[in-house]
Amino acid sequence: MKIPYTVIIGLEVHVELATSSKMFCGCSAEHFGVTPNTHTCPVCLGLPGALPVPNKKAVEWTIMLGLALGCSINEDSKFDRKNYFYPDLSKGYQISQYDEPLAVNGEIKIQDKPIRIRRVHLEEDTGKLQHETVNGEEVSLVDFNRSGVPLVEIVTEPDFRTIEEVDLYLKKLQRIIRYLGISQADMEKGSMRLEPSISLSLDDSKLPSYRVELKNINSFRFARRALEYEIKRQSELLDRGETIPQQTRGWNEAKGVTVAQREKEEANDYRYFPEPDIPPMNFTQSQIADIKAQIPEMPDQKLTRFIKIYGLSEYDASLLIDDFDLAHYFELAVKDGAKLDNAAKHIANWLINKKINYRVTVPGELISKIAVGLQTTQVDDSQLEEIIGEVLANNLQAVEDYKKGKTAVIGLFIGEVLKRGNFDKAKVIGFLNKKLKTI
Ligand code: ZN
Ligand code: MN
Repeated sequence: MKIPYTVIIGLEVHVELATSSKMFCGCSAEHFGVTPNTHTCPVCLGLPGALPVPNKKAVEWTIMLGLALGCSINEDSKFDRKNYFYPDLSKGYQISQYDEPLAVNGEIKIQDKPIRIRRVHLEEDTGKLQHETVNGEEVSLVDFNRSGVPLVEIVTEPDFRTIEEVDLYLKKLQRIIRYLGISQADMEKGSMRLEPSISLSLDDSKLPSYRVELKNINSFRFARRALEYEIKRQSELLDRGETIPQQTRGWNEAKGVTVAQREKEEANDYRYFPEPDIPPMNFTQSQIADIKAQIPEMPDQKLTRFIKIYGLSEYDASLLIDDFDLAHYFELAVKDGAKLDNAAKHIANWLINKKINYRVTVPGELISKIAVGLQTTQVDDSQLEEIIGEVLANNLQAVEDYKKGKTAVIGLFIGEVLKRGNFDKAKVIGFLNKKLKTI
């Protein structure tokens, strides 16, 4: 769609950390497919007087993510209370971070364009409402298993200008998180959730006075559809000279529309104040350096290395590094197959084009398959001539075409012969030409 406006998009991404316990208590952080309200205690139920104790691992992982995204780490950081009412938030506030987030000012490059990351902070997830019909009555039930699960929020500057850029950023962020091993970042299971903000401007040099925040986005596809819908909706309003209110809108996938939910609150509506039950945090440079040392090779570095060391095309390398486990498997197989000529290229080909399921094929098995595939079938000349004769007899129409001058059909004959064995191709072509001359 061509519109006279500049599309301006910013993103907030929430990611649940895969720690074994919750953010401020010892309850198991597992909540997907778990019997409701079985992983709870006074802290995560928000009972009065219960005291939160921060999860050290979650703090370290957030710093690690910040570092991997090129952020500076705040040596002084703290938790704050974000006050609001919602039935899935029994305390009446969420423990989050306001003016001293753990990490600030990072970036992710997408096709050489930097997307600035404003902040990475740590907070707790809320419980989950389930709307059900019980005994013919429509009720809302609340499950507190998710309440208090560590949640990292990654906020970008409004640097996206196309939906394509959003898509690339999200995939890249997801890959970095998975490489760090700090979350599955699985959108279907809700461990990665998106809130894009979008507005349109006639002038790229300044931001519009409004923004529309989108909620309930559960997949990359929904994100694209919701943004496409908003671009159309907002440009139609602007075309008619109307102003667009600052709003939060939800995505209704069934109807394919966004729906107004509420006029957006400002930060001061939340009455943030420092969490009195948790002392402020301080990190020394050496603590930060220790965390940095734990960062494994990141996807971009792996991509460069795969191209350089294994001589792969950028396309093939990018498919392999997309999945951490697949990339690891590839390297194991290359080691195993050191005796094969061009092992890396053959292995990449089998993994990418022949779609070998690497999760159930041990590298040794793959190497033998490749080795067998590379072996030419040994036949003597008379056997090969016999096979060629059979192929021609089975394709009389094509032989007629060949005689009429359609010499390209020789490709078909070659293909048919090679289906019967991995014969030396040059030899097959030589024999075919000879044979075709005699008929
Ligand atoms: Zn708990
Ligand atoms: Mn948040």
